[in-house]
Amino acid sequence: MDADPCRTCGGDGRIDNALGGTSARCPSCHGTGRRAELTSGFHDVTKTKPSHFKSDVSGGTAAGPKGPKAPVTAEGAQLAAEVAASTALADDAKQRLLAEIINHESTHGRCTKTFLKKIHKQARPAS
Ligand SMILES: [Zn+2]
Repeated sequence: MDADPCRTCGGDGRIDNALGGTSARCPSCHGTGRRAELTSGFHDVTKTKPSHFKSDVSGGTAAGPKGPKAPVTAEGAQLAAEVAASTALADDAKQRLLAEIINHESTHGRCTKTFLKKIHKQARPAS
């Protein structure tokens, strides 16, 4: 989060003056090279957009925005933890699987063995 490089200087903390051959301390980050979000009076409105995240689920079986956000059964919770800890899955895949778990629970009331196996397989690193 705080590794965001300063956009004015590109992260090196200074601005080269091509004409004079001098370099001055970046006024934006004050030489730290990091983007200073706290600078008062300067807001990057294009970046900070609160609470307007589109949950675009293409081809997924994600639970609706009003559905539960976490599994309710012990098996489901355990499975979700495995998915979250998986090194074989990308973040979006994890989210998709989590949604699948929740969705499965809501239709079956629990996680079936077949379903557990299916998710296990995906959460495991490919061989
Ligand atoms: Zn800077």
